Amino acid sequence: MLDAINRASASTRRASILAKVGNVRVGGAAPIVVQSMTNTDTEDVFSTAKQVSELARAGSELVRITVNTREAAAAVPKIRERLAQLNCDVPLIGDFHFNGHKLLTEHPECADALAKLRINPGNVGKGSKRDEQFAQLIEIACRHDKPIRIGVNWGSLDQALLARIMDENAKRSEPKDAGAIMREAMVTSALESAALAQSVGLAANRIILSCKVSGVQDLIAVYRELARRCDFPLHLGLTEAGMGSKGIVASSAAMAVLLQEGIGDTLRVSLTPEPNGDRTREVIVAQEILQTMGLRAFTPLVAACPGCGRTTSTTFQELAQDIQTYVREQMPHWRQTRLGVENMTLAVMGCVVNGPGESKHANIGISLPGTGEAPVAPVYIDGERAVTLRGENIVAEFRTLIDQYVERSYPALS
Ligand code: SF4
Repeated sequence: MLDAINRASASTRRASILAKVGNVRVGGAAPIVVQSMTNTDTEDVFSTAKQVSELARAGSELVRITVNTREAAAAVPKIRERLAQLNCDVPLIGDFHFNGHKLLTEHPECADALAKLRINPGNVGKGSKRDEQFAQLIEIACRHDKPIRIGVNWGSLDQALLARIMDENAKRSEPKDAGAIMREAMVTSALESAALAQSVGLAANRIILSCKVSGVQDLIAVYRELARRCDFPLHLGLTEAGMGSKGIVASSAAMAVLLQEGIGDTLRVSLTPEPNGDRTREVIVAQEILQTMGLRAFTPLVAACPGCGRTTSTTFQELAQDIQTYVREQMPHWRQTRLGVENMTLAVMGCVVNGPGESKHANIGISLPGTGEAPVAPVYIDGERAVTLRGENIVAEFRTLIDQYVERSYPALS
């Protein structure tokens, strides 16, 4: 319901074609889908299946894996089998470059195990081979009844097409600048490839498009144009977004503008993990973009104040972190057992200045004592002061109150 209400209120929601990727609907009025991609060696079946299941458990609704070698193509069905053993049915997307037509011809069981094929039209083949090999990939998709994503990336833009558009531009009385030409080439590459796929026999509802660039303003401009000129479902993503806060901010800034305009049916946040960092971060960020915009709900959100000179101990930060982690850890279980729990809101506040007020707006909120305040922590439940916690066990007692609230407020799923 939340999805329907909020997507309807997005300023100019495009009615895009509805596609299906495995059991996941993409486009039309379907909720915006969260995707991610593994960074394991696909030839390593166990590591790849493990990371796919971790991404799925974190909430990724589709997971892409690279398929770059014969061994990787042969590993895909085994990864699918291993995922079944892990009780994970998330649809897998195969990412193909350069040799996809060969790999899929030699390993038809790879195509069967995948729910979608991602094809980069800039990396399908050179010269006369390009259209031939692209058509081969489309025929394979048709034969195996699989949707495709035509994924244009500015780092691997079709050079022949770019040269053609530059030539056309040079003949104009008022030529466009280089940035506009690059954007035009990307959109043209996606649309011409989609037309070619349809001419080979792929149905329109088997096509999803993306045009990824690494600049925020370029991404917004490219996707606005793409949305204006076609009705295919669009996969959003800022490519090479970067590490840490830079990657998160850039991705959020770009995608928020587009999502607010109703553009985008599925998204991935392409974060560079820290060395040995957790790959699931990109899933959480994607979910948080959608949830903080009110477009979907995944996990109870914890509102917390930033703290200030009135919170001189770390107790407040530790409680905020503990509660955020706790609800994330509970979510896989709650999602299976409690209807609507993802809409729950929590507040963890540092003192009485804004604490009680913010707590009253949450389903369940706690206001810790600031410096010099009485050592008590009032808890508000659905706007009413319910209990006052004090002493050493505030964290454990607050968790118990959350558990009790979930049990009481969200019906059990049978
Ligand atoms: S609620 Fe209190 S501790 Fe938190 S930022 Fe405001 S004044 Fe500071």
